[in-house]
Amino acid sequence: MTNSSPLKSICVYCGSSDNGPAAHRDLARDLGRQMVANGIQLVYGGGRIGVMGAVANAVLDDGGTVTGVIPDFLMQREHGHHDITNLEVVTSMHERKARMAELSDAFIVLPGGLGTLEELFEIMTWRQLGLHDKPIVVINPDGHWDRLHGLIDDLVAAGYARPENAGLVHFVADPAAALSTLQSQITGKTHIETGRL
Ligand code: AMP
Repeated sequence: MTNSSPLKSICVYCGSSDNGPAAHRDLARDLGRQMVANGIQLVYGGGRIGVMGAVANAVLDDGGTVTGVIPDFLMQREHGHHDITNLEVVTSMHERKARMAELSDAFIVLPGGLGTLEELFEIMTWRQLGLHDKPIVVINPDGHWDRLHGLIDDLVAAGYARPENAGLVHFVADPAAALSTLQSQITGKTHIETGRL
């Protein structure tokens, strides 16, 4: 489908494990299908397994475009996905994250673990520092991220985070709400100052 919106590619951060609830992989597939239906490309961590693999395979199955960025040392552990449109193999985690951010117009967080949290906080704090102006949403389908949401509110209450910075991430219930939130927030002037990372 032709996509005239400035929202052309989304980076999805999510779990690399298959041990979480199957509903989370179903959610990832639903997101992937909705991205293709809206003409939006996927950027992700390049693995074949877990929630990551589920979203990538759903985009591929529906004829969409998938770019994965994976460090060489994770090719085995996260089963580097050779069937995606573009697989970029890099040398470090920092290079991976900078490249994923550079290739994307916006960010969606699905259920995941520690790596997913790290990726969210990094992209959120890069935005807090003004290194980019790309929108960020968290899909919180079943309370998976409730305590994360509460923790961010606690940081504001304690005076360590500004309310406007806490508001840089939006918690939504499902993929349709995620896409509409990103569409309404995107400026079309997204950039990332990778030289300062
Ligand atoms: P997880 O949520 O722990 O399953 O990890 C999700 C993704 O984040 C995987 O592709 C991990 O390789 C990646 N990841 C793990 N640790 C980090 C980290 N320190 N920085 C960035 N990404 C990470």
